Amino acid sequence: MATSDLYYSNSGKFKIHAPIVLLVGVGLCTIILGVAYGIGLYYCPSVFLSVFLPFGAGLAVGGMIYLVAKWTHIRNAAMIIASGLLFGLLLEYISFMAWIFALSEWTAIIYLPQDMQEVLVYVAVDGAWEIVGITFKGALLYFAWAVELIIILGCAVMLPYALLKPKAYCENCQRWITDHKSILPFELIHDPADFKAQLERGEFAILGSLAGVPYSEPDYTSYDLSHCSVCNDLHLLSIETIKTTIDKDGKTQTNKTDVIRNFLIDAESMELIKELAPGEVPGLDDTQVDAEDSAQDEPADNAESDDVSSTGDSPQ
Ligand SMILES: [Zn+2]
Repeated sequence: MATSDLYYSNSGKFKIHAPIVLLVGVGLCTIILGVAYGIGLYYCPSVFLSVFLPFGAGLAVGGMIYLVAKWTHIRNAAMIIASGLLFGLLLEYISFMAWIFALSEWTAIIYLPQDMQEVLVYVAVDGAWEIVGITFKGALLYFAWAVELIIILGCAVMLPYALLKPKAYCENCQRWITDHKSILPFELIHDPADFKAQLERGEFAILGSLAGVPYSEPDYTSYDLSHCSVCNDLHLLSIETIKTTIDKDGKTQTNKTDVIRNFLIDAESMELIKELAPGEVPGLDDTQVDAEDSAQDEPADNAESDDVSSTGDSPQ
């Protein structure tokens, strides 16, 4: 069996209405957001403050793509990335239109690319703004615009991709997996690569080799079990190490590192792992359901699929 067969991977499918909702819903919202962002940049009282606006706009676009992808059951990484690039570019273009409209004292609406190019070249001659005495014009201005575009595209692509990547989907029941149980804390794993290799060889006994540690321990290992509670046919194990550090300002920082993510196990192995729990986890019932997912995730009585397959790759 190939190693990739040991892990959950998305099917690359999506609901038939997903592209329409993306194009119409996210497209329209991106146009409105682009207008607000462009005018916001023009009126922004501080150049330093305006540096943060592209992050906000890009994350807003990425957030919309994530919500639509979850709602329309998109299990296709290529579609998520393409949407981020498409709507990120649309946001940038519309924001330039709005910004030029404001710059021209509400007289010039430029929508053709070649006209846009001419206006931007004209604006770049004298510069668009000044920061710490340096006028941004010519090559420096083009560079700043390029950085702005990269920030927007980066946020619009990475946010939905990163949020959807760890999510598993039960193809039987046509639902995202929302049932999780964390089992912690165990001692740190000395050799994570070897630990993972043993699991991949089916040597599950290694799971019981870690001793429990007190809850006050800042560094520990956590087992996360997730499963489809409807068909009880899909069980996944993820293991991560959690290390807590305190920086020079006294702030606590938690760093999580995956040892193994979405490893396929059977129901019996899942029960065995549950029995390994060092003790009752405070405030954690037997099963914890993702609050953000639970409302929209009631399974349909008939889990008939209106999925569309795609040749695109999958997030994992
Ligand atoms: Zn299921």
